[in-house]
Amino acid sequence: MKHNDFYKKILDNNKAWVEEKLAINPAYFKRLSENQTPPLLWIGCSDSRVPANEIIGAEPGDVFVHRNIANMVIHSDMNMLSVLDYAVNILKVKNIIVCGHYGCGGILAAMKNESYGLIDNWIRHIKTVYRLHHVELNQIENETERFNRFVELNVQEQVYDLAKTSIVQQAWTQKQELSIHGWVYGLNSGYVTDLEVNVTSNQDLDEVYQLKFKKL
Ligand SMILES: [Zn+2]
Repeated sequence: MKHNDFYKKILDNNKAWVEEKLAINPAYFKRLSENQTPPLLWIGCSDSRVPANEIIGAEPGDVFVHRNIANMVIHSDMNMLSVLDYAVNILKVKNIIVCGHYGCGGILAAMKNESYGLIDNWIRHIKTVYRLHHVELNQIENETERFNRFVELNVQEQVYDLAKTSIVQQAWTQKQELSIHGWVYGLNSGYVTDLEVNVTSNQDLDEVYQLKFKKL
């Protein structure tokens, strides 16, 4: 398919999709336009093969989504922090999923030494995860197995990085219902694996990260 054919096709797809929804429920878009109360924030990779809504069978209105290369939670990233703050404090989502995936190009780049230009500065954050876990990772001789484990450890670290934010710690201090989960999606199988990263309060963090909030 030529590039322009694809462009025309997606516009046609949109029209067909609208008609399909309206045929089932004439008020579908009217109802959706009134408000959103998604129970879930999804932090995933930008990879085109890991579409958030589709792989969990979610409908429009179900998931608040943030995606970047290698599903990173970087504490100075205003984009991520703004999404997180809005999701936790305004939308009051009850679950946050960090979803990585096997075969992630960002993670692979972080294991190697090649320079890719500006993106090196983003990948550098992933290299820090490697450094934290280098003893375990360097013991894995098979490169694919080491790559897979690095994907999992990166998701685990991003779950912890979410828990370290003032936003999540404050929500937990206020007894707001909020669970954080780490998933890995299999490009080969379509299935997700829940890594069962167990962090439910700031007591699970290293002491230096535990914030004490002033009473208002
Ligand atoms: Zn990826």
